[in-house]
Amino acid sequence: MHSRAYLDGLDVTSVAATATTDELRKRLLRPLADDGVEPARVIDEMVADSAGGLLGSAGGRFFGWVIGGALPAALAADWLTSAWDQNSGLYACGPASAVIEETCGIWLKDLLGLPPAASFALVTGCQMSHVTCLAAARHRLLASRGWDVERGGLSGAPHIRILTADTRHSSIDRAVRLLGFGTDSIVNLSADEQCRLTARALAQALREAAGVPTIVVLQAGDINTGAFDPFEELVPLAHEHGAWVHVDGAFGLWVNACPPRRAPLRGVETADSWSTDGHKWLNVPYDCGYAFVADPDAHRAAMSIRASYLTHDDDARDQLDWTPEFSRRGRGLATYAAIRQLGRTGISDLVDRCCRAARELSVRIGALPGAELVWEARINQGLARFRDPGPMATEADHATRTDEVIARIQQAGEAFFGGTTWQSKRCMRISVCNWQTNDRDVDRAVGAVERALVE
Ligand SMILES: *Cc1c(COP(=O)(O)O)cnc(C)c1O
Repeated sequence: MHSRAYLDGLDVTSVAATATTDELRKRLLRPLADDGVEPARVIDEMVADSAGGLLGSAGGRFFGWVIGGALPAALAADWLTSAWDQNSGLYACGPASAVIEETCGIWLKDLLGLPPAASFALVTGCQMSHVTCLAAARHRLLASRGWDVERGGLSGAPHIRILTADTRHSSIDRAVRLLGFGTDSIVNLSADEQCRLTARALAQALREAAGVPTIVVLQAGDINTGAFDPFEELVPLAHEHGAWVHVDGAFGLWVNACPPRRAPLRGVETADSWSTDGHKWLNVPYDCGYAFVADPDAHRAAMSIRASYLTHDDDARDQLDWTPEFSRRGRGLATYAAIRQLGRTGISDLVDRCCRAARELSVRIGALPGAELVWEARINQGLARFRDPGPMATEADHATRTDEVIARIQQAGEAFFGGTTWQSKRCMRISVCNWQTNDRDVDRAVGAVERALVE
């Protein structure tokens, strides 16, 4: 009932939160009680106390960060996941859940154009997918130099370096920290004006320390421009030097599920590992990410675990052989339901629709008086900024004006956009990732920006 009320209200309620932190604390931060509360009251009060503290990110007028909604079948499957409450670490604890995940892996590789023989894991998000994939990379690079990192750890091991563009997502840095490489192992390469790593920069870096075990992290979908690294050039180059190539494709890898838009991803399938999300563009509820590794042995060696009280079935797939978690929820159910609801064509349409809406939003917003189109969306990410009209206005004034307009749009609650700084310009990000966004939402969002500009 409460879920229905929230979902039914998405079209009319404010997309931004309206309650202050103080208000939310005053209501929610109750003293821990000695006595329990009747379950229905717990939920009623949680809903009442959260009023004004929810974003409309599940709906079609939300264009902040890269946030997807939840497809109806995926949402229902997510509820069922909790009702069934299967421990989905082992086949023995939830056979149907394990087979559902196995199926998801096969379907996802097919949709995303990845090698059918690749191994996979369903994890909490792209962040943990990076950890999983880079652990596989660490295993293989060190094993091939005679070092057993799972036993010996990293002290005394050959030093691994990570070559990546300075425009990478910060979750790469955290994965590098968690795995013990340390961020000093990252060699920052400068990207071109579209945020792509160039063959020249990569070739030079690879030559500079030839023979050093190397991971190259490439990107499918820059967070500001949606740009793709030129995989067709870069992957073979990295492989010539024996490097492991990992691809951060949190949202951008989904463009491969839309055949007419595939061209800029050519060659991505030749990498060694890939990370992407279910909870962004596939519109599966949080938390859901996917890891894929071309060499299943490296993946399994990095993750697999055995204990005497666990039950393994040689014929079945135990999820904990591939994931960093032990006990875990039946993460595959929502993915399975989302893919079945849409089918191959529906997923392709979803990707295409979001790209078209982002292009239209960026072009129309960029054409408003006082606005400037900074990046016309090629996939689902565009950038605009707002200029201070003063004759002597500086870059700093334009930045202030841009932040002001973003805040005003949020306050009005009709649409939600976030800010970013791209190539030293303060910009408004236009990110479309929701299955529900339609022409009317686009019109309403453009209208909201127009009003914020004339206020
Ligand atoms: C969102 C995002 C991540 C992090 O993914 P989570 O699912 O939030 O862990 C990594 N890289 C890119 C490009 C992203 O957009």
